[in-house]
Amino acid sequence: MIATSSTKKFFAKKRRVAARLVMVFVATFIAMPFSSVHAEEAAAPIETVIHAGHLIAVPGEAAQENVSVIIEGGVIKSITEGFVEGTHVIDLSNSYVLPGLIDMHAHVTLYIGVENNPLTVLTDAHIRDKARLALSSIPMIEETLNAGFTTVRNLGDPGGVILDLRNAINQGIIKGPRIVAAMTQVSVSHGEYDPAHLGVRPDVEKTFNDSGLCDGPYECRKVVRKLAAEGVDVIKLRIAGNGEFFGHSLVYEYEDEIEAVIETAHKLGLKVAAHVASGDASRMLLKAGVDTIEHGPIAEDAYKLAKNAYFTPTLAAHKVVDPIAAQMGLDGFFDGAMRRAEEAYKAGVPILFGSDSGAVRHGEAATEFKFLVEAGLSSADALRSATVTASEALGLEQQIGTLEVGKAADIVATAENPLENISTLENVTFVMKGGAVIR
Ligand SMILES: [Zn+2]
Repeated sequence: MIATSSTKKFFAKKRRVAARLVMVFVATFIAMPFSSVHAEEAAAPIETVIHAGHLIAVPGEAAQENVSVIIEGGVIKSITEGFVEGTHVIDLSNSYVLPGLIDMHAHVTLYIGVENNPLTVLTDAHIRDKARLALSSIPMIEETLNAGFTTVRNLGDPGGVILDLRNAINQGIIKGPRIVAAMTQVSVSHGEYDPAHLGVRPDVEKTFNDSGLCDGPYECRKVVRKLAAEGVDVIKLRIAGNGEFFGHSLVYEYEDEIEAVIETAHKLGLKVAAHVASGDASRMLLKAGVDTIEHGPIAEDAYKLAKNAYFTPTLAAHKVVDPIAAQMGLDGFFDGAMRRAEEAYKAGVPILFGSDSGAVRHGEAATEFKFLVEAGLSSADALRSATVTASEALGLEQQIGTLEVGKAADIVATAENPLENISTLENVTFVMKGGAVIR
Protein backbone atom coordinates (compact mmCIF):
# COMPACT_ATOMS: atom_id res chain seq x y z
CA MET A 1 0.00 0.00 0.00
CA ILE A 2 1.35 3.35 -0.92
CA ALA A 3 1.29 5.74 2.02
CA THR A 4 0.07 8.86 0.28
CA SER A 5 -1.30 11.45 2.67
CA SER A 6 -4.87 10.43 1.94
CA THR A 7 -4.28 6.71 2.30
CA LYS A 8 -2.41 7.43 5.54
CA LYS A 9 -5.44 9.34 6.77
CA PHE A 10 -7.69 6.53 5.60
CA PHE A 11 -5.66 3.94 7.46
CA ALA A 12 -5.32 6.10 10.58
CA LYS A 13 -9.10 6.26 10.71
CA LYS A 14 -9.39 2.57 9.91
CA ARG A 15 -6.91 1.78 12.70
CA ARG A 16 -8.97 3.76 15.20
CA VAL A 17 -12.09 1.87 14.19
CA ALA A 18 -10.17 -1.42 14.25
CA ALA A 19 -8.79 -0.66 17.73
CA ARG A 20 -12.35 -0.23 19.02
CA LEU A 21 -13.44 -3.47 17.40
CA VAL A 22 -10.49 -5.30 18.94
CA MET A 23 -11.51 -4.03 22.36
CA VAL A 24 -15.03 -5.39 21.82
CA PHE A 25 -13.58 -8.68 20.58
CA VAL A 26 -11.19 -9.01 23.53
CA ALA A 27 -13.96 -8.21 26.01
CA THR A 28 -16.09 -10.95 24.47
CA PHE A 29 -13.52 -13.74 24.20
CA ILE A 30 -11.01 -12.98 26.96
CA ALA A 31 -12.26 -15.90 29.03
CA MET A 32 -11.39 -18.44 26.28
CA PRO A 33 -8.53 -20.88 27.01
CA PHE A 34 -5.24 -20.37 25.09
CA SER A 35 -4.92 -24.03 24.09
CA SER A 36 -6.19 -23.30 20.60
CA VAL A 37 -2.99 -21.42 19.65
CA HIS A 38 -1.36 -23.41 16.87
CA ALA A 39 2.01 -25.01 17.29
CA GLU A 40 3.00 -25.33 13.63
CA GLU A 41 3.82 -21.62 13.13
CA ALA A 42 7.55 -22.29 13.03
CA ALA A 43 7.53 -23.59 9.46
CA ALA A 44 5.58 -20.72 7.87
CA PRO A 45 5.08 -21.59 4.21
CA ILE A 46 6.44 -19.31 1.51
CA GLU A 47 3.47 -17.59 -0.05
CA THR A 48 4.59 -16.95 -3.61
CA VAL A 49 7.87 -17.59 -5.40
CA ILE A 50 8.68 -16.21 -8.81
CA HIS A 51 11.37 -18.12 -10.71
CA ALA A 52 12.95 -15.31 -12.71
CA GLY A 53 15.18 -16.30 -15.62
CA HIS A 54 16.47 -12.76 -15.95
CA LEU A 55 15.75 -10.31 -13.16
CA ILE A 56 16.16 -6.60 -13.81
CA ALA A 57 15.59 -5.69 -10.17
CA VAL A 58 17.02 -2.19 -10.45
CA PRO A 59 16.83 -0.86 -14.02
CA GLY A 60 20.21 0.62 -14.85
CA GLU A 61 22.06 -2.07 -12.89
CA ALA A 62 23.13 -5.50 -14.19
CA ALA A 63 20.46 -8.19 -14.51
CA GLN A 64 20.60 -11.31 -12.29
CA GLU A 65 20.18 -14.74 -13.87
CA ASN A 66 18.04 -17.57 -12.46
CA VAL A 67 16.88 -16.16 -9.16
CA SER A 68 13.82 -16.59 -6.96
CA VAL A 69 11.77 -13.62 -5.83
CA ILE A 70 9.93 -14.54 -2.63
CA ILE A 71 6.78 -12.59 -1.88
CA GLU A 72 4.80 -12.45 1.33
CA GLY A 73 1.97 -10.15 2.27
CA GLY A 74 2.24 -8.27 -1.01
CA VAL A 75 5.86 -7.27 -0.50
CA ILE A 76 9.19 -8.73 -1.55
CA LYS A 77 10.55 -10.78 1.34
CA SER A 78 13.80 -11.92 -0.26
CA ILE A 79 15.60 -12.52 -3.52
CA THR A 80 17.76 -15.62 -3.60
CA GLU A 81 20.00 -17.33 -6.14
CA GLY A 82 18.60 -20.37 -7.92
CA PHE A 83 15.03 -21.59 -8.11
CA VAL A 84 13.66 -22.45 -4.66
CA GLU A 85 10.43 -24.27 -3.88
CA GLY A 86 7.36 -22.58 -2.43
CA THR A 87 3.63 -22.96 -1.90
CA HIS A 88 2.78 -21.04 -5.03
CA VAL A 89 5.45 -21.05 -7.74
CA ILE A 90 5.24 -18.79 -10.79
CA ASP A 91 7.50 -19.92 -13.60
CA LEU A 92 9.07 -16.95 -15.39
CA SER A 93 12.33 -18.81 -16.00
CA ASN A 94 12.22 -17.89 -19.71
CA SER A 95 11.23 -14.26 -19.13
CA TYR A 96 12.68 -10.91 -18.26
CA VAL A 97 11.27 -9.86 -14.91
CA LEU A 98 11.22 -6.21 -13.92
CA PRO A 99 9.47 -3.68 -11.67
CA GLY A 100 5.87 -2.70 -12.43
CA LEU A 101 5.74 0.27 -14.79
CA ILE A 102 4.81 3.78 -13.70
CA ASP A 103 3.01 6.14 -16.07
CA MET A 104 3.67 9.67 -14.83
CA HIS A 105 1.09 11.34 -17.04
CA ALA A 106 -2.20 9.54 -17.41
CA HIS A 107 -5.89 10.43 -17.66
CA VAL A 108 -7.64 7.18 -16.85
CA THR A 109 -11.13 8.68 -16.68
CA LEU A 110 -11.39 9.87 -20.26
CA TYR A 111 -10.48 9.03 -23.80
CA ILE A 112 -10.40 11.79 -26.37
CA GLY A 113 -8.69 10.12 -29.30
CA VAL A 114 -8.19 11.58 -32.76
CA GLU A 115 -11.61 10.44 -33.92
CA ASN A 116 -13.47 12.60 -31.40
CA ASN A 117 -13.92 16.31 -30.90
CA PRO A 118 -11.96 17.03 -27.70
CA LEU A 119 -14.43 19.68 -26.64
CA THR A 120 -17.35 17.25 -26.82
CA VAL A 121 -15.46 14.72 -24.70
CA LEU A 122 -14.39 17.31 -22.12
CA THR A 123 -17.86 18.82 -21.91
CA ASP A 124 -19.38 15.39 -21.52
CA ALA A 125 -16.94 14.63 -18.69
CA HIS A 126 -17.96 17.82 -16.92
CA ILE A 127 -21.70 17.29 -17.14
CA ARG A 128 -22.13 13.56 -17.21
CA ASP A 129 -23.60 11.75 -14.24
CA LYS A 130 -20.71 10.86 -11.92
CA ALA A 131 -21.68 7.25 -11.40
CA ARG A 132 -21.78 6.70 -15.15
CA LEU A 133 -18.45 8.44 -15.59
CA ALA A 134 -16.82 6.36 -12.86
CA LEU A 135 -18.22 3.11 -14.23
CA SER A 136 -17.16 3.93 -17.78
CA SER A 137 -13.63 4.58 -16.46
CA ILE A 138 -13.25 1.05 -15.11
CA PRO A 139 -12.40 -0.63 -18.45
CA MET A 140 -9.75 2.04 -19.12
CA ILE A 141 -8.30 1.52 -15.66
CA GLU A 142 -8.19 -2.25 -16.21
CA GLU A 143 -6.51 -1.87 -19.61
CA THR A 144 -3.88 0.32 -17.99
CA LEU A 145 -3.09 -2.26 -15.31
CA ASN A 146 -3.17 -5.16 -17.77
CA ALA A 147 -0.58 -3.35 -19.89
CA GLY A 148 1.83 -3.49 -16.96
CA PHE A 149 1.29 -0.07 -15.41
CA THR A 150 0.96 -0.82 -11.71
CA THR A 151 1.11 2.88 -10.79
CA VAL A 152 -0.17 5.95 -12.63
CA ARG A 153 -0.05 9.61 -11.81
CA ASN A 154 -3.40 10.86 -13.01
CA LEU A 155 -3.01 14.50 -14.03
CA GLY A 156 -6.47 15.86 -14.51
CA ASP A 157 -9.90 14.40 -14.25
CA PRO A 158 -12.57 16.83 -15.46
CA GLY A 159 -15.43 14.76 -14.03
CA GLY A 160 -14.05 14.66 -10.49
CA VAL A 161 -14.35 10.89 -9.99
CA ILE A 162 -10.69 9.92 -9.73
CA LEU A 163 -10.50 10.03 -5.93
CA ASP A 164 -13.41 7.63 -5.55
CA LEU A 165 -11.87 5.32 -8.15
CA ARG A 166 -8.47 5.48 -6.40
CA ASN A 167 -10.12 4.65 -3.08
CA ALA A 168 -12.14 1.82 -4.60
CA ILE A 169 -8.90 0.30 -5.96
CA ASN A 170 -7.13 0.71 -2.60
CA GLN A 171 -10.07 -1.00 -0.88
CA GLY A 172 -10.00 -3.89 -3.37
CA ILE A 173 -13.47 -3.12 -4.75
CA ILE A 174 -12.15 -2.82 -8.31
CA LYS A 175 -8.84 -3.79 -9.90
CA GLY A 176 -6.54 -1.04 -11.05
CA PRO A 177 -3.12 0.50 -10.70
CA ARG A 178 -2.04 2.51 -7.68
CA ILE A 179 -3.29 5.98 -8.52
CA VAL A 180 -1.49 9.16 -7.52
CA ALA A 181 -4.30 11.56 -8.25
CA ALA A 182 -4.68 15.18 -9.12
CA MET A 183 -8.29 16.14 -9.59
CA THR A 184 -9.07 19.28 -11.53
CA GLN A 185 -6.35 21.40 -13.13
CA VAL A 186 -5.47 24.66 -11.37
CA SER A 187 -5.41 27.60 -13.76
CA VAL A 188 -5.90 31.36 -13.75
CA SER A 189 -8.81 33.06 -15.44
CA HIS A 190 -8.12 33.93 -19.06
CA GLY A 191 -5.51 31.16 -18.85
CA GLU A 192 -5.16 27.86 -20.60
CA TYR A 193 -8.10 26.14 -18.91
CA ASP A 194 -10.51 29.08 -18.87
CA PRO A 195 -13.67 27.88 -20.59
CA ALA A 196 -13.89 31.24 -22.33
CA HIS A 197 -10.98 30.07 -24.54
CA LEU A 198 -12.32 26.59 -25.01
CA GLY A 199 -15.66 27.67 -26.41
CA VAL A 200 -17.71 25.38 -24.23
CA ARG A 201 -21.45 25.78 -23.82
CA PRO A 202 -22.38 28.59 -21.41
CA ASP A 203 -24.16 26.20 -19.04
CA VAL A 204 -20.98 24.14 -18.76
CA GLU A 205 -18.68 27.12 -18.20
CA LYS A 206 -19.65 27.26 -14.55
CA THR A 207 -18.54 23.70 -13.84
CA PHE A 208 -15.16 24.48 -15.41
CA ASN A 209 -14.86 27.71 -13.41
CA ASP A 210 -15.82 26.10 -10.14
CA SER A 211 -13.21 23.43 -10.51
CA GLY A 212 -9.86 25.13 -10.13
CA LEU A 213 -9.68 28.65 -11.52
CA CYS A 214 -7.96 31.18 -9.27
CA ASP A 215 -6.72 34.76 -9.56
CA GLY A 216 -4.11 36.29 -7.31
CA PRO A 217 -2.06 34.50 -4.65
CA TYR A 218 -4.86 34.32 -2.07
CA GLU A 219 -7.33 32.59 -4.35
CA CYS A 220 -4.59 30.30 -5.64
CA ARG A 221 -3.64 29.28 -2.12
CA LYS A 222 -7.29 28.64 -1.36
CA VAL A 223 -7.86 26.45 -4.40
CA VAL A 224 -4.82 24.30 -3.52
CA ARG A 225 -5.95 23.98 0.09
CA LYS A 226 -9.41 22.95 -1.07
CA LEU A 227 -7.99 20.24 -3.34
CA ALA A 228 -5.72 19.02 -0.54
CA ALA A 229 -8.70 18.82 1.80
CA GLU A 230 -10.60 16.82 -0.78
CA GLY A 231 -7.75 14.31 -0.78
CA VAL A 232 -5.65 14.79 -3.91
CA ASP A 233 -2.10 13.37 -3.95
CA VAL A 234 -0.60 15.88 -6.39
CA ILE A 235 -1.50 19.30 -7.80
CA LYS A 236 -1.83 19.73 -11.57
CA LEU A 237 -1.14 23.29 -12.61
CA ARG A 238 -2.12 24.20 -16.12
CA ILE A 239 -0.07 27.22 -17.04
CA ALA A 240 -0.81 29.19 -20.17
CA GLY A 241 1.62 29.86 -22.94
CA ASN A 242 0.31 27.75 -25.78
CA GLY A 243 0.94 30.77 -27.96
CA GLU A 244 4.48 29.59 -28.68
CA PHE A 245 3.15 27.23 -31.34
CA PHE A 246 1.43 30.16 -32.99
CA GLY A 247 4.58 32.25 -33.11
CA HIS A 248 4.08 34.20 -29.91
CA SER A 249 4.49 33.20 -26.30
CA LEU A 250 2.26 34.80 -23.73
CA VAL A 251 2.21 33.72 -20.11
CA TYR A 252 -0.94 34.96 -18.43
CA GLU A 253 0.01 34.03 -14.88
CA TYR A 254 1.86 36.28 -12.46
CA GLU A 255 4.83 35.02 -10.49
CA ASP A 256 2.98 35.45 -7.20
CA GLU A 257 0.15 33.21 -8.45
CA ILE A 258 2.55 30.46 -9.52
CA GLU A 259 4.51 30.77 -6.28
CA ALA A 260 1.30 30.64 -4.23
CA VAL A 261 0.25 27.38 -5.87
CA ILE A 262 3.65 25.73 -5.49
CA GLU A 263 4.42 26.98 -1.96
CA THR A 264 0.99 26.01 -0.66
CA ALA A 265 1.17 22.57 -2.24
CA HIS A 266 4.63 21.93 -0.82
CA LYS A 267 3.55 23.12 2.62
CA LEU A 268 0.76 20.52 2.46
CA GLY A 269 3.15 17.78 1.34
CA LEU A 270 1.98 17.73 -2.28
CA LYS A 271 4.12 17.92 -5.40
CA VAL A 272 3.17 20.09 -8.36
CA ALA A 273 3.07 18.93 -11.98
CA ALA A 274 2.74 21.76 -14.49
CA HIS A 275 1.37 21.56 -18.01
CA VAL A 276 3.73 23.82 -19.94
CA ALA A 277 3.59 24.98 -23.53
CA SER A 278 6.19 27.71 -23.62
CA GLY A 279 9.80 28.21 -22.59
CA ASP A 280 8.89 31.37 -20.67
CA ALA A 281 6.35 29.45 -18.62
CA SER A 282 8.88 26.71 -17.86
CA ARG A 283 11.44 29.24 -16.62
CA MET A 284 8.90 30.88 -14.31
CA LEU A 285 7.78 27.53 -12.92
CA LEU A 286 11.27 26.15 -12.38
CA LYS A 287 12.30 29.33 -10.54
CA ALA A 288 9.27 28.86 -8.28
CA GLY A 289 10.31 25.25 -7.53
CA VAL A 290 7.85 23.20 -9.59
CA ASP A 291 8.42 19.45 -9.34
CA THR A 292 7.70 18.25 -12.87
CA ILE A 293 7.32 19.95 -16.25
CA GLU A 294 4.77 18.26 -18.50
CA HIS A 295 4.94 18.39 -22.31
CA GLY A 296 7.42 21.25 -22.61
CA PRO A 297 9.29 23.07 -24.03
CA ILE A 298 11.79 23.94 -21.34
CA ALA A 299 13.71 27.15 -22.09
CA GLU A 300 17.37 26.29 -22.77
CA ASP A 301 18.55 28.78 -20.16
CA ALA A 302 16.38 26.92 -17.62
CA TYR A 303 17.97 23.47 -18.18
CA LYS A 304 20.21 24.02 -15.18
CA LEU A 305 17.20 24.59 -12.94
CA ALA A 306 15.39 21.67 -14.56
CA LYS A 307 18.10 19.27 -13.39
CA ASN A 308 16.55 19.63 -9.93
CA ALA A 309 13.11 18.85 -11.36
CA TYR A 310 11.84 16.35 -13.95
CA PHE A 311 10.59 16.61 -17.51
CA THR A 312 7.77 14.48 -18.93
CA PRO A 313 7.89 15.05 -22.71
CA THR A 314 4.72 12.99 -23.53
CA LEU A 315 5.99 12.06 -27.00
CA ALA A 316 3.36 9.44 -27.85
CA ALA A 317 0.62 12.03 -27.32
CA HIS A 318 2.45 14.47 -29.60
CA LYS A 319 2.52 11.72 -32.22
CA VAL A 320 -1.25 11.21 -31.91
CA VAL A 321 -1.98 14.93 -32.09
CA ASP A 322 0.53 15.66 -34.89
CA PRO A 323 -1.88 15.12 -37.84
CA ILE A 324 -4.51 17.31 -36.17
CA ALA A 325 -1.90 20.01 -35.55
CA ALA A 326 -0.85 19.77 -39.21
CA GLN A 327 -4.46 20.31 -40.29
CA MET A 328 -4.42 23.46 -38.15
CA GLY A 329 -1.30 24.62 -39.99
CA LEU A 330 1.14 23.71 -37.20
CA ASP A 331 3.95 21.78 -38.81
CA GLY A 332 6.53 19.85 -36.84
CA PHE A 333 4.43 19.33 -33.71
CA PHE A 334 5.82 15.85 -33.03
CA ASP A 335 9.31 16.54 -34.40
CA GLY A 336 9.58 19.60 -32.18
CA ALA A 337 8.66 17.57 -29.12
CA MET A 338 11.26 14.93 -30.04
CA ARG A 339 13.96 17.56 -30.46
CA ARG A 340 13.12 19.17 -27.11
CA ALA A 341 13.23 15.82 -25.31
CA GLU A 342 16.60 15.04 -26.90
CA GLU A 343 18.08 18.40 -25.94
CA ALA A 344 16.81 18.25 -22.37
CA TYR A 345 18.11 14.67 -21.96
CA LYS A 346 21.54 15.63 -23.31
CA ALA A 347 21.59 18.60 -20.93
CA GLY A 348 21.06 16.20 -18.00
CA VAL A 349 17.42 16.94 -17.19
CA PRO A 350 15.84 13.81 -15.60
CA ILE A 351 13.26 12.44 -18.04
CA LEU A 352 9.98 10.82 -16.97
CA PHE A 353 7.81 8.36 -18.83
CA GLY A 354 4.38 9.90 -19.42
CA SER A 355 1.98 8.68 -22.07
CA ASP A 356 -0.78 11.27 -21.66
CA SER A 357 -3.16 8.34 -22.00
CA GLY A 358 -6.57 9.70 -22.78
CA ALA A 359 -5.01 11.31 -25.82
CA VAL A 360 -3.12 8.05 -26.41
CA ARG A 361 -5.39 4.99 -26.33
CA HIS A 362 -5.58 3.27 -22.94
CA GLY A 363 -3.54 0.09 -22.93
CA GLU A 364 -1.14 1.54 -25.53
CA ALA A 365 0.78 3.80 -23.18
CA ALA A 366 3.96 1.73 -23.58
CA THR A 367 4.41 3.08 -27.12
CA GLU A 368 6.05 6.02 -25.33
CA PHE A 369 9.14 3.85 -24.71
CA LYS A 370 10.17 3.62 -28.35
CA PHE A 371 9.77 7.37 -28.83
CA LEU A 372 11.97 8.03 -25.79
CA VAL A 373 14.65 5.79 -27.30
CA GLU A 374 14.27 7.48 -30.70
CA ALA A 375 14.76 10.80 -28.91
CA GLY A 376 18.16 9.55 -27.76
CA LEU A 377 17.54 7.98 -24.36
CA SER A 378 19.48 4.81 -23.71
CA SER A 379 17.08 1.89 -23.32
CA ALA A 380 18.18 1.66 -19.67
CA ASP A 381 17.26 5.31 -19.10
CA ALA A 382 13.96 4.84 -20.93
CA LEU A 383 13.18 1.93 -18.58
CA ARG A 384 14.33 3.97 -15.57
CA SER A 385 12.00 6.81 -16.64
CA ALA A 386 9.05 4.49 -15.91
CA THR A 387 10.51 2.84 -12.81
CA VAL A 388 13.40 4.19 -10.71
CA THR A 389 13.22 7.84 -11.83
CA ALA A 390 9.42 7.87 -11.72
CA SER A 391 9.30 6.51 -8.17
CA GLU A 392 11.77 9.21 -7.08
CA ALA A 393 9.69 11.92 -8.76
CA LEU A 394 6.65 10.67 -6.83
CA GLY A 395 8.58 10.51 -3.57
CA LEU A 396 7.64 6.81 -3.40
CA GLU A 397 11.10 5.34 -3.95
CA GLN A 398 10.84 3.44 -0.65
CA GLN A 399 7.78 1.53 -1.90
CA ILE A 400 7.95 1.09 -5.68
CA GLY A 401 10.24 1.55 -8.71
CA THR A 402 12.67 -1.32 -8.08
CA LEU A 403 12.40 -4.94 -6.93
CA GLU A 404 14.11 -4.94 -3.56
CA VAL A 405 13.38 -6.46 -0.18
CA GLY A 406 10.57 -4.62 1.60
CA LYS A 407 9.15 -3.02 -1.54
CA ALA A 408 5.76 -3.73 -3.08
CA ALA A 409 5.58 -6.84 -5.25
CA ASP A 410 4.63 -4.84 -8.35
CA ILE A 411 6.18 -6.97 -11.07
CA VAL A 412 5.93 -7.37 -14.83
CA ALA A 413 7.60 -9.72 -17.29
CA THR A 414 8.47 -9.58 -20.97
CA ALA A 415 9.45 -12.25 -23.47
CA GLU A 416 12.44 -10.32 -24.78
CA ASN A 417 15.14 -8.25 -23.12
CA PRO A 418 13.73 -4.69 -22.96
CA LEU A 419 17.26 -3.33 -22.96
CA GLU A 420 17.75 -4.81 -26.43
CA ASN A 421 14.21 -4.34 -27.73
CA ILE A 422 12.38 -1.65 -25.80
CA SER A 423 9.13 -2.31 -27.72
CA THR A 424 8.77 -5.66 -25.96
CA LEU A 425 7.30 -3.56 -23.13
CA GLU A 426 4.26 -2.99 -25.37
CA ASN A 427 3.43 -6.67 -24.84
CA VAL A 428 4.11 -7.55 -21.23
CA THR A 429 3.36 -11.20 -20.59
CA PHE A 430 2.81 -11.10 -16.83
CA VAL A 431 1.53 -8.49 -14.37
CA MET A 432 1.52 -8.65 -10.58
CA LYS A 433 0.41 -5.82 -8.30
CA GLY A 434 0.99 -5.94 -4.57
CA GLY A 435 1.63 -9.68 -4.75
CA ALA A 436 -1.63 -10.42 -6.58
CA VAL A 437 -1.38 -11.88 -10.07
CA ILE A 438 -3.31 -9.67 -12.46
CA ARG A 439 -2.63 -11.73 -15.55
ZN1 LIG B 1 -2.41 15.41 -19.94
